[in-house]
Amino acid sequence: MGRISIRSVSKKYGATTALDDVDLDIEDGEFLVLLGPSGCGKSTLLRIVAGLAAPSSGQIVVNDVDITNQAPRDRDLAMVFQGYALYPHLTAAKNIGFPLRARRISKSSIADQVRNAADVLDLTAVLDRRPAELSGGQRQRVAVARAIVRDPQAFLMDEPLSNLDAILRASTRRQLIELRNTLSTTFIYVTHDQVEAMTMATRIAILRAGRIEQVGTPEQLYDQPETTFVAAFLGSPPMNLVDAAVVDRNNELYASGSGIDVPLGLSAYDGSAREVTIGIRPERIFLDGRHPAAIRSARASVSAVENLGSEVIVHARLDNQTVLVRSPRPAPAEIGDRVDLYCAPTDLHLFDRLSGRRLVWEPSHRHTATTALSYEGALK
Ligand code: ADP
Ligand code: MG
Repeated sequence: MGRISIRSVSKKYGATTALDDVDLDIEDGEFLVLLGPSGCGKSTLLRIVAGLAAPSSGQIVVNDVDITNQAPRDRDLAMVFQGYALYPHLTAAKNIGFPLRARRISKSSIADQVRNAADVLDLTAVLDRRPAELSGGQRQRVAVARAIVRDPQAFLMDEPLSNLDAILRASTRRQLIELRNTLSTTFIYVTHDQVEAMTMATRIAILRAGRIEQVGTPEQLYDQPETTFVAAFLGSPPMNLVDAAVVDRNNELYASGSGIDVPLGLSAYDGSAREVTIGIRPERIFLDGRHPAAIRSARASVSAVENLGSEVIVHARLDNQTVLVRSPRPAPAEIGDRVDLYCAPTDLHLFDRLSGRRLVWEPSHRHTATTALSYEGALK
């Protein structure tokens, strides 16, 4: 099976740097998601792995073999695109079996493999239909089934669900997750959709302007974002980011500003006031003090309440910023209400405001050293 190493890969198009010194090791059997906004270089990186584009510098290594100069057809990798690229005049079964016919495998063996792939992807009932007679989701599954029968070292998928409407996208996503659980093949999956990334990935690599911003499990990225960019990219609504400063008040440190004031549980600090960005997830803010670890941290006025059916998003206006609070229904407040915001200090994320990098801060070390706020842990 496939272990893929992307080594110091850069790609320039004229003056545009699409990829800037990307290093990434994808283990055998991993489902690695490349996630990032439009234009950050995801497709370029996948196409370089597939051999459809050449890197300006760097190597692609599969199972310890340097394949950087190999033609795409010699790489044992199956690419699935956003457009399905099916043959319109062939049935679903013939489309799925197409890569095998090129390999001159016996008809009965092809039929077996097509049946197996169709079974996994719930296509058995539509094998005799042509693409025009299939739904978008079925077409995309035919394209995936065609990749499966090749039994490649790895699947490379570039936004395969983005042409589907929301309901089909959700059901096809679930089918891909089942597929991932059934096969032990390596996946590299490109998307700009954080829900796909969170639900499907064993690890996510977040790309920003051609560079890797952070790599980790979905939980690591969600719970310990190393930068404000990652913090703001994951979660819906994303993490609240509020300007503040770390101030020393009677030998107790506070993150204070924009109407928020939270003790950090640290007793000393070697610097003067430090400009920070406070991060807090909408689901970790409470409008009452019943949460055991929460303390009152701000007073706000409610400017909007969005009913999502399952819960509400309360827009709480601070000095000059709005904080979003995710709350169970019924809505705990109405527009115009003055509310107290509560949070647990341990749910705060602190970032250096200039660099956007996470500050390491351990509230448990209440009485220890003066260097409690540092980058060190974040850079390990
Ligand atoms: P993504 O897939 O993340 O949206 P791409 O990999 O398609 O991003 O593009 C990354 C950057 O490289 C963009 O700035 C894009 O305009 C540029 N780019 C991609 N392909 C080409 C190309 N063939 N020629 C010139 N610029 C390109
Ligand atoms: Mg793309």
